[in-house]
Amino acid sequence: MSELTGRIAIVTGASRGIGRAIAERLGASGATVVCVARGENAAVTAAAISAAGGTAEAHGVDVTDPAGVEALVSGVLERHGRIDILVSNAGIARDQLMLRMKRADWDEVIATNLTASFTWCQAVLKPMIRQRAGRIVAISSVVGQMGNAGQANYAASKAGLIGFCKALAREVASRNVTVNVVAPGLIATDMTRAITDNAKADWSGQIPMGRMGAPEDIAAAVRFLASDEASYITGQVLAVNGGMYM
Ligand code: NAP
Repeated sequence: MSELTGRIAIVTGASRGIGRAIAERLGASGATVVCVARGENAAVTAAAISAAGGTAEAHGVDVTDPAGVEALVSGVLERHGRIDILVSNAGIARDQLMLRMKRADWDEVIATNLTASFTWCQAVLKPMIRQRAGRIVAISSVVGQMGNAGQANYAASKAGLIGFCKALAREVASRNVTVNVVAPGLIATDMTRAITDNAKADWSGQIPMGRMGAPEDIAAAVRFLASDEASYITGQVLAVNGGMYM
């Protein structure tokens, strides 16, 4: 029996990149994985988990739509009777220097990266508290810890997530629900594909390990925080960044 056998996990932003790697890792560890992205996008991840011998389902939900989130959570509870793990990973960047940043770019990033985590956590908390067990892991960013020019909206959303999770961790610790944050550094995904080679070289110069990370590096940290091995860890920020920010 694998360590997460019998656990029900929801992973948002599971269609590609870090979220897909997390979903596959949890699936390989025995969890039933509810893969969430917009439209049909998460189907490919659920199919990969099933092909590898795991159990998964795919759902099209826009994380900025509270009614869609609540309906998804109700459906999971009806089908499986419990929710053990929430990984709030879906995120976007709309980069621009502050003087040129449009209000819409601020609003969209805060809604997707921060407010959606509020919606998801509120939706899963009642069942987790009732179960007297739960694991919440939110995906922040090194940028939320150290800032980055051109990412005021993104940095605010990711720093906000850290404060949000620490507050929530204090509220629910006595119910055996842990709330932790993983803060990735520069990871090779669609989100970072647009960065020019020159800029990547600049960034890599700031990374003591001298290279970008892989989605699987983040997935391993999330798997740990979601497991029984991490049962006495809550309110923490686990940086997975090659030493970029210490
Ligand atoms: P990515 O490859 O661009 O994937 C983003 C994921 O989020 C996709 O699955 C996307 O699904 C989903 N998503 C975006 N908006 C959504 C919405 N409104 N509703 C539902 N799903 C939505 O990004 P990534 O690099 O894997 O990033 C994953 C997380 O890690 C993000 O929170 C990001 O901020 C964070 N992070 C990334 C890095 C990095 O270097 N890559 C570093 C630090 C932190 P669709 O198929 O619906 O588009």
